Amino acid sequence: MAKRFPETEIKKLKGLLETKKNILITTHHRPDGDAMGSSLALYNYLKAKKKTVSVITPSDYPDFLSWLPGNKSVINYGTSEKIADKLILKADMIFCLDYNSLDRVDKMEEPLRKSKAVKILIDHHLFPEDVFKHSFSYTTASSTSELIFQFIQALGDKKFITKKIAECIYCGIMTDTNSFRFESMKAETHRIIAELIEAGAENFKIHERVYDSSTESRLRLIGYALKDKLSVLNEYNTAYIALSEAELKMFNFRTGDTEGLVNYALSIEGIKMAAFFSEKDGMVKISFRSKGNFSVQELSSKHFSGGGHKNASGGRSETSLDEAISKFLEILPSYKNKLLKD
Ligand code: 5GP
Ligand code: MN
Repeated sequence: MAKRFPETEIKKLKGLLETKKNILITTHHRPDGDAMGSSLALYNYLKAKKKTVSVITPSDYPDFLSWLPGNKSVINYGTSEKIADKLILKADMIFCLDYNSLDRVDKMEEPLRKSKAVKILIDHHLFPEDVFKHSFSYTTASSTSELIFQFIQALGDKKFITKKIAECIYCGIMTDTNSFRFESMKAETHRIIAELIEAGAENFKIHERVYDSSTESRLRLIGYALKDKLSVLNEYNTAYIALSEAELKMFNFRTGDTEGLVNYALSIEGIKMAAFFSEKDGMVKISFRSKGNFSVQELSSKHFSGGGHKNASGGRSETSLDEAISKFLEILPSYKNKLLKD
């Protein structure tokens, strides 16, 4: 594997970190465990280096991530737009973590595009936009959190990876690899995990906090979705689940309640692609997952204004839920050959 974070670039970053006064960390809309894990790992690191730093998220995120060290200082653009806008205006250095195009930050897109601050991308998604002054885009990385570990290491500051930072990074790697099971989980990533545990990360507690903190209504929502809302299309090796806003309301939906639901559809033997459609605020959000060579990144960017990774991507549709599903069903025949291969 080619060395990540080349020395010449790291030298420049060191210079910037010394001279820039107001650092901002941003991540994608509807942040997940990796988005928050990487952001708060970098936040805690820069705090330890006595920097002035803030984290802004474009929206809220699941409660099962609220234990992350530094969580209380996170500013949600969705509810604190004015404060966030001021911070963006003041920032002279902006880290963009776990996303690679500015259309992934929802309403923050415009202020970020206008900002004159030096923008630094650290990310592992395919096809980054060309708007970043320094771009550390490594698509074979398990997660952005893994990259933050390597970034701090490249800066010569591994000693700064204390329990707090180790737990943020552990959480990001764990959630983005579905508990260390994806192809992206290389031997090197396992070595990093070992170092995080040595640095104090209480690995078993992190699993509990993230995976064993459901409400009863969340579990019943999953039960309902699997029993009544799962469609299996064996002729396309495809399965999908769709939930309307009314159905989500019936189960007191809270952000994060449907996280991982799409994986149940993918766990059916022989299924190559799974999709999960959910309706929120008059829009449809879609999660795609696949196995093997079938690229849901390609499908979601072509048909659903989305993107992501080959085997895990997302997209959206400004139509009704039924229309979004119809569109999906209409395009399936054009993917039939690929879906039935290997
Ligand atoms: P999820 O289905 O968990 O929301 O997202 C799966 C992956 O696709 C994540 O890596 C996420 O960052 C990415 N992703 C989700 N939605 C979008 C989208 O609308 N556009 C792009 N480019 N990537 C997305
Ligand atoms: Mn990620």
